Amino acid sequence: MSSVTPQATAVSASENRPEAPAETNPFLIAQRQLDEAVDILELDNGTHQMLRWPMRELKFVFPVRMDDGRVEVFHGFRVHYNDARGPAKGGLRFHPHENIDTVRALAAWMTWKTAVVDIPLGGGKGGVNCNPKELSRGELERVSRGYMRRVADFIGPDIDVPAPDVYTDSQVMAWMLDEYETIRGRHVPGVITGKPLVLGGSAGRPEATGIGVVVSIREALKALQIDSTQTTASMQGFGNVGQSAAIHFVNDLGGKLICVSCWDHEDKTAYTFFKRDGIDPVYLRRITDSFGSIDKNKAVQAGYEVRDGEAWRSAEVDVLIPAALENMITGHTVHQISPRVKVLAEAANGPTTPEADKVLHERGIFVIPDFLCNAGGVTVSYFEQVQNAYNFYWPENEVHQRLDQGMTRAFRSVHEMAQNLNVYNRLAAYLVSVERVAKTMKLRGWV
Ligand code: NAD
Repeated sequence: MSSVTPQATAVSASENRPEAPAETNPFLIAQRQLDEAVDILELDNGTHQMLRWPMRELKFVFPVRMDDGRVEVFHGFRVHYNDARGPAKGGLRFHPHENIDTVRALAAWMTWKTAVVDIPLGGGKGGVNCNPKELSRGELERVSRGYMRRVADFIGPDIDVPAPDVYTDSQVMAWMLDEYETIRGRHVPGVITGKPLVLGGSAGRPEATGIGVVVSIREALKALQIDSTQTTASMQGFGNVGQSAAIHFVNDLGGKLICVSCWDHEDKTAYTFFKRDGIDPVYLRRITDSFGSIDKNKAVQAGYEVRDGEAWRSAEVDVLIPAALENMITGHTVHQISPRVKVLAEAANGPTTPEADKVLHERGIFVIPDFLCNAGGVTVSYFEQVQNAYNFYWPENEVHQRLDQGMTRAFRSVHEMAQNLNVYNRLAAYLVSVERVAKTMKLRGWV
């Protein structure tokens, strides 16, 4: 049994300068979730301590010349959480709230994510504290290149491989790849994934996370013996992941999406867009900008009802899909969820706090935990690295077929664990992943 109590968790993490209260500090949440699994697996204290802290962290500042001639200094992060199973792997966020605890939590969840889909990679994550919406294209490029100059010696195809995440895309990956290759003086396409196709990207990567979300919803509905064509869904966030999940939920599962919420950068608030007879996600994507903000006026003209940004959570639907950011379902807001909801598909990382998780569990809602639900992106990022290594590229249908197989296999291993041990899905997913990482550390002789 573990000797580390939840209280000790809070104290030791706060010595490392937490930037959010304990209830919503993503890193403390990630540690609490891990502690529960470690207790059940009865891992020794050395293994436990190795699993609850990042192996390496890089925190830095870098200067960027802005269009008006000023120099602005940006704060950047890159964390290698655990690389026992292979090179660290995880996305890069450009976000005004980015901080070390968020990056640590996301890097921890990447470790469990690559383990749950059983690909030979570890977990990492990075980011820059900035608001890309307020940067010109030239400034965004200089931020991307400045970040890469700082992390170039910390990453590499066999060390740590970044990818897109919130407010970063294939263009940002292209600038970063170019900067890295300029520093190294040779081509190294496997250093970053989520690249444009012509720079060694994989067919099917942009939509992979959303497709994986929908495969896991399909499997959950099957397990619950619910006909997907009779289901309705509500989603928060309409960016890379949300758009793809919406399209595939409607097209592949025949479900009806009735509302979507997103952040409005002009009004600095969130809105929810309702269409009771079913949203056409392809049309909605057409009136959405590159930051995932839906054009309110066009939506109203097209017959959408616009409500406040919280309304997605209380919608009377069968499937709830948070696809935005952390802490969107807390102990305070979980009670807003309609009794009709049967499945919570965590497309976003860390959308549910432990307090809310407890209530969802008591209510019998089938939670597809984040690091299982959104593992489709890293699965295809791994395929991208494999294709880069061979310099031989697969057709999209092959990528999607392998993605479906990988997600289905991962879902079933978690579901089986949940049923065999009679534990809830998040804990089952932790048990599957943590056991795999712990076993590898033991084989390496670390613990
Ligand atoms: P994105 O930047 O493309 O989209 C984010 C969306 O969230 C936008 O529509 C934005 O308007 C919305 N949003 C932000 N704050 C909101 C709020 N308060 N209320 C409502 N909507 C809000 O980001 P993404 O790549 O789609 O990532 C979304 C989530 O999925 C994140 O948690 C990310 O870590 C996770 N994820 C992404 C990938 C990937 O491949 N991109 C892979 C795995 C997990």
